Amino acid sequence: MRPSFHEIQIAAYDRWERRGYSHGGDANDWLDAETELTFLGHYRSIAEHPLDAGRVVLGDGPNRRCRFCERTPRQVDFGEPRPIVPGRRSPVTAEVCGECRGDWLDALDQEFRRFWDRLANDPHTPLSTPAFKAIVAGALAVMPAGMLPDFVDAIEWVSNPDHDLDDRLIAGAECRVYRAGFLHQDPGVSLYRRVDDDDPVPFLMDFVRGDGIMIQVPLPMCLRDEDLDGRSIVHLARAPFGGTGYEYASSRAERLPLAVSVRRAPARRIPSAIAS
Ligand SMILES: [Zn+2]
Repeated sequence: MRPSFHEIQIAAYDRWERRGYSHGGDANDWLDAETELTFLGHYRSIAEHPLDAGRVVLGDGPNRRCRFCERTPRQVDFGEPRPIVPGRRSPVTAEVCGECRGDWLDALDQEFRRFWDRLANDPHTPLSTPAFKAIVAGALAVMPAGMLPDFVDAIEWVSNPDHDLDDRLIAGAECRVYRAGFLHQDPGVSLYRRVDDDDPVPFLMDFVRGDGIMIQVPLPMCLRDEDLDGRSIVHLARAPFGGTGYEYASSRAERLPLAVSVRRAPARRIPSAIAS
């Protein structure tokens, strides 16, 4: 699971080579190589979808159902396939019905676009519950269909337009944000699942990258993570890199915690002696 000294040495050397063997930064090369190898030792990629790379339609087979309400095209109108990342042309999914879109998903899409555009320019952008739901809904739309039963609670939660309901279930949720010039290239969505089911790391990690940023979100409310109860779950970060020579950059994670709803923030107790 953990990378060996030798593996880190090779990966750190690779980064140094990419930097054009320039001096200084060896400690960072080592740290970044160890971070990335540790992540890749615990996870494997199960889905990779490039964005803006020509139209691809996902889930348009004969037995399609809406991924959120499970209805079929005989029961509900599906309309046009929907982009898996709001505001991007490709790929699109045919597995979301028109009613789910009209009832709650279109509103989340708008929230996501606002969040993403702001985050690309402002590191202090808050992560709201609707934006977080939109990211989770995007992952639910592209994960292998066989995994959906592990996310029944997440499906119910994202499709509920009352964003304050069940917010205790996502207390402490956060995403990680990476920022670097090379993240303008090859925009895409990736999903990684943990290799070992006894490993105390979240079952599924979602990544969305483009516009100079990448966000990493551990998918909440996964039934497979409940087996780990009693053990604290570790959220592993990554250290993606790109460019060569002076343009080489390795990007570190910044934490972006979910902003707590103001309406539901616990009321402060005023000691009676002061209150009276
Ligand atoms: Zn639906």
